Amino acid sequence: MAVYKAPLRDMQFVLNEVFNAEARWASMPATRDVTPDLADAILGEAAKLAENVLFPLNRSGDEEGCKWVLDANQQGVVTTPKGFREAFRQLAEGGWTALSGSPEFGGQGMPKMLTVMFDEMLYGANSSFALYPMLSNGCTLCIASHASEEQKQVYLPPIYEGRWCGTMCLTEAHAGTDLGIIRSKAVPNGDGSYAVSGTKIFITGGEHDLVDNIIHLVLAKLPDAPPGPKGISLFIVPKFLVNADGSLGARNPVSCGSIEHKMGIKGSATAVLNFDGAKGWLIGEPGNGLAYMFTMMNYERLSIGIQGLGLGEVAYQSAAAYAKDRLQSRAPTGAVAKEKMADPIIVHPDVRRMLLTARAYSEAGRAFACFVGEQLDMAKYHEDDATRADADALVQLLTPVAKAFFSDKGFESCVLGQQVFGGHGYIREWGMEQLVRDARIAQIYEGTNGIQALDLAGRKVARNGGAYARVYFAQMRSALDAIGAVPAVAGEMAAARKAIQLLEETTDWLIAEAKGDANAIGAASVDYLELFGLVTYGWLWARMLAIAAPKAGADAFYTAKLATGRFYFQRLLPKADALAAQVRAGSVSLMTLDSTLF
Ligand SMILES: Cc1cc2nc3c(=O)[nH]c(=O)nc-3n(C[C@H](O)[C@H](O)[C@H](O)COP(=O)(O)OP(=O)(O)OC[C@H]3O[C@@H](n4cnc5c(N)ncnc54)[C@H](O)[C@@H]3O)c2cc1C
Repeated sequence: MAVYKAPLRDMQFVLNEVFNAEARWASMPATRDVTPDLADAILGEAAKLAENVLFPLNRSGDEEGCKWVLDANQQGVVTTPKGFREAFRQLAEGGWTALSGSPEFGGQGMPKMLTVMFDEMLYGANSSFALYPMLSNGCTLCIASHASEEQKQVYLPPIYEGRWCGTMCLTEAHAGTDLGIIRSKAVPNGDGSYAVSGTKIFITGGEHDLVDNIIHLVLAKLPDAPPGPKGISLFIVPKFLVNADGSLGARNPVSCGSIEHKMGIKGSATAVLNFDGAKGWLIGEPGNGLAYMFTMMNYERLSIGIQGLGLGEVAYQSAAAYAKDRLQSRAPTGAVAKEKMADPIIVHPDVRRMLLTARAYSEAGRAFACFVGEQLDMAKYHEDDATRADADALVQLLTPVAKAFFSDKGFESCVLGQQVFGGHGYIREWGMEQLVRDARIAQIYEGTNGIQALDLAGRKVARNGGAYARVYFAQMRSALDAIGAVPAVAGEMAAARKAIQLLEETTDWLIAEAKGDANAIGAASVDYLELFGLVTYGWLWARMLAIAAPKAGADAFYTAKLATGRFYFQRLLPKADALAAQVRAGSVSLMTLDSTLF
């Protein structure tokens, strides 16, 4: 069976020992009240919610799925799986829906460094369920960043209180990656509102029964809009109109035409939404919609990466438990469990390879999520302009890496975990095939991982001549310099530095190549992103090993950390050399074959 325990000890290690969160929080007025004790209490309570409320609904939610029917008024209504409504109410009553919200409107303003851990627990315990609050969080972040004061007053408190949810309405049947060609229209009503019309597909949480109202953030074009992305504006379109006193008014003409039948995340309603002149309100300036929406999309990109991270962790835990229990064959070095008919499969090197791969990615991923969270907090709250600017550059650079690398490695870990279960991994009741199905979508939605890689190599690296990347490489090196010599892991520290050098040289090569070959970025981007992720994890593992090595032996946690990190350096980081060679292979072998010959 799949099992899940929130990895609290490792979360505390990352926060307190790797990143010294206490000092970071104390350094910024907005986070000064957050202490390690408060963080521990939040994570402890979150773990109970994840383990005892959400995880038990994970398999039943998958079996039952969401149901769409036409009600007596011929409205498409969606029922979520049994238990989801009650669980959402518990989430709201516990204040979890307000955890990262703006304090001026009732949010708790907790730092991202901490809330990434909460997000990981939610996705690990129940990815389908997690998507409802996660989309709502992104929606409130976008409103808080770009909407008018009045709009914030109307929409933020009820979403923070968990009485309403939010969505992100971008995709249309003919427009997924290329949002510049959307057709949805918004025509001024003459009273400050707009009539929004069009059909959006694949809308996560577009219709459901968890809350009283759903607030759609919709990309649409004004009648005089120029073609392409510059013509896109952003509108708030509530399912129920909101009266002046905050109570719910008439039903807006936005209806759910159907929900998708999907490979995974079956407890998450993926809706087709028809807007038939629905009343909407413009956010900010006309034509800036896509830029505003990027606030939400970047939030969701990190969040969806964390979906991969959370699922990879569950797969690892489940496979490790199974491998200690399942008896097959004898250890190559001789029987270990002599009293039993066979040894537990954890004795076999290949089973250990699978477990350690998933574990090494999961632990480095947790540290990377915390690092990106720290940069987000600094970009938002730090008092020094230059520090804020550097942090913002890193957030922009690292968001596509987090989204794609987490979700790719999370999927890989789920497949490895399933493989550890052998044939039983393919059978539904064990829960491992669900993890594989649920993890797969994270590589696809919120901008496919191919698009994330293009964003990294093109917009975030080549377009600015490597300016952001240089900030990152300098920070990586100075963090290692600050650690100094740790003899027990000197080899690993040197390997991490060598890997950073390789990434820097490959980056320089790619920037130069892109000047002479228009296909260079597209040809290299996926390999480049994987190289970037592997080197980043090498850097983080070096930092973690420097802390763990002196304490290993006496303490099982650090002993395991040291062994897992050493495995990373010996068995996973060496792939960086092959990836760098793939990047340098250029575009010719990809582009030579004529399209008609495929
Ligand atoms: C379960 C689910 C939930 C979703 N939730 C939401 C939601 O809440 N809100 C929302 O608005 N959307 C949502 N989506 C839509 C999702 O974000 C899109 O499916 C995704 O961005 C890809 O768009 P597409 O499906 O149209 O693929 P396409 O854009 O048609 O892409 C097809 C393939 O071509 C590649 N490709 C496209 N353009 C390029 C290019 N320029 N260079 C290189 N390769 C390219 C892509 O990487 C992909 O491999 C959801 C989708 C699913 C399946």
